[in-house]
Amino acid sequence: MIATESKLESVSFYINGASETPAGRTAGKVTNPASGEVLAEVPFADAADVDRAVRSAHEAFLKWREVPVVDRVQVLYRYKALLEQHAAEVAATLTRENGKTLDDSKAEVRRMIQMVEVACGMPSLMMGDSLNDVAAGIDCKTIRQPIGVCAGITPFNFPAMVPLWMHPFAIACGNTFVLKPSEKVPLTPTLAVKLLHDAGLPPGVLNLIHGDKTAVDALLRHPLVRAVSFVGSTPVAKYIYTTAAAQGKRVQALGGAKNHLVVMPDADMPKTVEAIIGSAFGAAGERCLAGSVLVPVGDAAGPLLDLLVERTKALAVGDGSQKGIEMGPLVTADHAARVEGYVEKGVAEGATPLVDGRERKTEKGGFFLGPTIFDNVTPEMAIGHEEIFGPVLSVMRVSTLDEAIDLVNRSAFGNATSIFTSNGGAAREYSSRCEAGMVGVNVGVAAPMAFFPFAGWKNSFFGDLHAHGKDAVAFYTEQKVIMSRWF
Ligand code: NAD
Repeated sequence: MIATESKLESVSFYINGASETPAGRTAGKVTNPASGEVLAEVPFADAADVDRAVRSAHEAFLKWREVPVVDRVQVLYRYKALLEQHAAEVAATLTRENGKTLDDSKAEVRRMIQMVEVACGMPSLMMGDSLNDVAAGIDCKTIRQPIGVCAGITPFNFPAMVPLWMHPFAIACGNTFVLKPSEKVPLTPTLAVKLLHDAGLPPGVLNLIHGDKTAVDALLRHPLVRAVSFVGSTPVAKYIYTTAAAQGKRVQALGGAKNHLVVMPDADMPKTVEAIIGSAFGAAGERCLAGSVLVPVGDAAGPLLDLLVERTKALAVGDGSQKGIEMGPLVTADHAARVEGYVEKGVAEGATPLVDGRERKTEKGGFFLGPTIFDNVTPEMAIGHEEIFGPVLSVMRVSTLDEAIDLVNRSAFGNATSIFTSNGGAAREYSSRCEAGMVGVNVGVAAPMAFFPFAGWKNSFFGDLHAHGKDAVAFYTEQKVIMSRWF
């Protein structure tokens, strides 16, 4: 059903603490992926909107940096309480616009709360070092100071959590922030930003704008923006990194992925299959940590694929807001068509479909595609090396662990990888030699918690300091060394 204009939700900016719904801008449509219903119109910021948001952040920075860190984090403690109170509403909004199952949405809200909890520890995290008498009568200490206005540009797949990899850390450090979330899913980040203002955040400390490349380019080129955090696809990550770095800004740009799951013959097959199902088909494969290439080693292939195919065929696909559903739709009609295009390409390239998701485009109106498994895939095939970002698993069989490591390390991406085995030596060898930023041992989705850093290697990451954890504190601060002598 297509909603009438009057039923559309309104999506606002937050500039200088005030919610505003600007008129006369180019607008995008937000859809419910489970039904195709249009939920909202989202206004796209123009360069003047971006300028107002950045200037408001800059004005706020001049005061916010003087607020003691112990007082800054009080707002975040209140924000955590509000997120807990509104967790069900945030999760429902997330499922409504993104399509992921309600269980996945609840798990994402828990992750966002964990980000806030860690950022609340900023008084300890920001501490520097000191040493007295580094020379006769001279003491030395390091301090960390905020850098100014920071910008965050985020993707569609984790609209609740990914913005919180950024702004709670940035603002707890004393910076101010301008967030530009994905225009496909603006409702969840808008609700989350409203709650942070309800928690008492001073005006201008966090500004929210929506939009597309026009808004992003204005942020990248604005002289008052000092640092840019980006999460999204590899081509855009590369563009953000090179453009913002050329303007002298600090940048961290997390990109796309092609994650390999290596299964040794000694793995616990039933538990491994459950982990692979969650990794490849959880969040409909729209996860930068999704396992998209399965690498069975030697005799693992037979028992593994038998169980996996049976389980995949039984996977409950449908509207993520309904009980018992294990996999929801893809985010938009365009994205569903793109992923289906890869399934067609896989067949054309000569891979063997063990499960064909096109046979399970179940629900009317929604952007559904069932899970697909291809056997006999080679790294040269498009489905073997390109990021599909959907529920498509490519199987590449190898004979030895060495062959598996060579195969994985030939990938242009290096976000995450996992090994399934009961042999500690094999796990250690793999963890040490694989070229990826995040490694799972008998864990299908190796997602670091808020207090650890998160990022990949190679074409999955451009920058130095990773997202959240202690790296976020380093990213959002300048370090200064002070040497003192008293006459
Ligand atoms: P995307 O790159 O299309 O968009 C990300 C953001 O960039 C959005 O806010 C979008 O408006 C903006 N954008 C898009 N095109 C742009 C352009 N040409 N110039 C400037 N800005 C532009 O990504 P997406 O489709 O929203 O998200 C999926 C991608 O994100 C996948 O590739 C996935 O692997 C990646 N991702 C990576 C991580 C990670 O931690 N490495 C986490 C989540 C998602």
